[in-house]
Amino acid sequence: MADTGAGMSNLDILQGMSLEQIKAVTEVFQQCSDSYLFILDLNTDVYMVSEKATKRFPFDNTVMENCTAVLKDVIYPSDYAMLRADIEKCASGEQDTHALEYRWLDRKGRVVWISCMGTVVTGTDGHRLLVGRVSELGKKAKADNITGLRREARFRLNAEALLRDQPKAIRYVMRVGIDNFKEINEKEGVEAGDEVLQELAECILKTVDEKVDVYRLMADEFLVVDATDTIYKDPNTIYDELQKKIADMVKKKEYSRFYTVSAGVIEGDFTGRTAEEILRLTEFTLNEAKRNGRNQMAMYDQASYDEYLKRLDMRKELRKAINRQFEGFEVYYQPIVSTTGYHLVGAEALLRWHSEKYGNVSPAVFIPILEESSLIIPVGKYVLWEAANTCKKWKEYIPSFHINVNLSYVQLYRSDLLKDVDKCIQEVGLDSDSLVLELTESGYIETNGRIKEFFRELKEKKIDLALDDFGTGYSNMRYLKEIEAKTVKIDRSFVVQALQNEYDYSIISHIIDMVHSLGSSVCMEGIEEQEELNKMMQTKPDMIQGYYFGKPTSAAQFEEQFLRIKDSL
Ligand code: C2E
Ligand code: MG
Ligand code: MG
Repeated sequence: MADTGAGMSNLDILQGMSLEQIKAVTEVFQQCSDSYLFILDLNTDVYMVSEKATKRFPFDNTVMENCTAVLKDVIYPSDYAMLRADIEKCASGEQDTHALEYRWLDRKGRVVWISCMGTVVTGTDGHRLLVGRVSELGKKAKADNITGLRREARFRLNAEALLRDQPKAIRYVMRVGIDNFKEINEKEGVEAGDEVLQELAECILKTVDEKVDVYRLMADEFLVVDATDTIYKDPNTIYDELQKKIADMVKKKEYSRFYTVSAGVIEGDFTGRTAEEILRLTEFTLNEAKRNGRNQMAMYDQASYDEYLKRLDMRKELRKAINRQFEGFEVYYQPIVSTTGYHLVGAEALLRWHSEKYGNVSPAVFIPILEESSLIIPVGKYVLWEAANTCKKWKEYIPSFHINVNLSYVQLYRSDLLKDVDKCIQEVGLDSDSLVLELTESGYIETNGRIKEFFRELKEKKIDLALDDFGTGYSNMRYLKEIEAKTVKIDRSFVVQALQNEYDYSIISHIIDMVHSLGSSVCMEGIEEQEELNKMMQTKPDMIQGYYFGKPTSAAQFEEQFLRIKDSL
């Protein structure tokens, strides 16, 4: 009990005031606070709350006779008993403070988390009052202890007000993220990460006008909101200056930690936008900048965002199709012929997808989506089994027939591919030399031990590899040697170039000679016309795959067209 120095307690003073006077004082203090002030008379159960609270929560009045009953309408039902027990303790004298976090219901019945803090003041006559405040936890925009900046909750509050009252005042919102923050944290520890965050916050604050708002979001991301009427610095200038400041900072710290930042920006009219939307769109745009190679700024573009949403939706559709026993998927086959007599020697299995919603979708579109989401793992298995079964069947027409199946590196790195291949061959009863696995050069990671092991075991099992898309990447001969590819498949784009200019033609000729000298064979892809065939045959490929001999078709049609009638085309 606090003594006022004249033998009176605080409560004695309060008791000397009329209810109207107490209410007036409370309202004055209320103006200086985000919280709701309250007084609960623990003896009489009279409850007084500031007027602001009655607007947001279902209190009928600022002074209520029967607190126990009244609070029942305001408090989330399952939290009521806990609150009651705590108030009982205050009333009985067992405790003199009250501090609880629990839930209230607003006037629309929505849950609001609150923090309630109070102190019991006791009069000389033993009268006890609980005096305190209720704060909404969601509204508490705590500052960030690392950077000293305000956090996302504060951005939401400020942005909502701004978007409601003067959306046109917002010039741009820029989201800045560190490109390699996870690496810094992992390699050098969280303290190093915190220091980098402080440095970056400092650089941002030095770059923008002091009236520009800067917030720290989750992890390593910052939000810069320019809704000022000061001299306008466009986002490009801001980003350039920020990059320079960071580079200087990194240099000043003697390159002890190297980092770069990317940024995503929305500009233009913000009318009708919400804080949530700004967060979502800047996050997307920042990720675009990172996807484009990091250390750069991207501007929000509605078309790319729509495209992104479409890809997300396609992913959903693909997942649905997979869960419905691969509904809409079909494996097509394209003939591969030997250049000696143009005999059919095998086929490449090529996946097709017909979506209910999007119609026939090109593999160039859906394969990357399957890869990003790792859904290529179940789909790859499906293709493998389909192709193996089909090959087994077609070997009745051509005993040496082989089937080529495309593999994604995702399958190789993230699934037990070898076991699956093994199981498939066993179950289908296919000779291992009837299966050729196609891999491109582009996903190869030299240092990955798993991939070397994969090549070694494939060799042991006598399963051949084909190096696909040759001529589109580095066309690395060393890689060819490393994977010991039985076949190199020269991509159509390279063939088209060779048909158009002598220089590329001469390169292809030499590459084919080199591949032969390494003991591998060459399959040339994408021959469409007789003329093309005539010209490219002079470079001495071993096999041809192209529309000239046949487009990819369904298994039934392939059988009809190429196997039942004749075995040479
Ligand atoms: P790829 O493995 O290089 O397959 C050859 C592509 O070239 C096929 O395209 C084929 O239809 C096309 N092509 C063949 N001959 C000609 C021609 O004469 N002219 C033209 N213009 N094109 C020709 P498709 O079927 O659209 O497949 C594209 C890519 O999708 C494939 O390239 C492959 O990388 C990927 N893909 C297809 N199926 C699968 C699969 O089951 N798994 C994986 N991981 N990737 C697949
Ligand atoms: Mg292929
Ligand atoms: Mg290819």
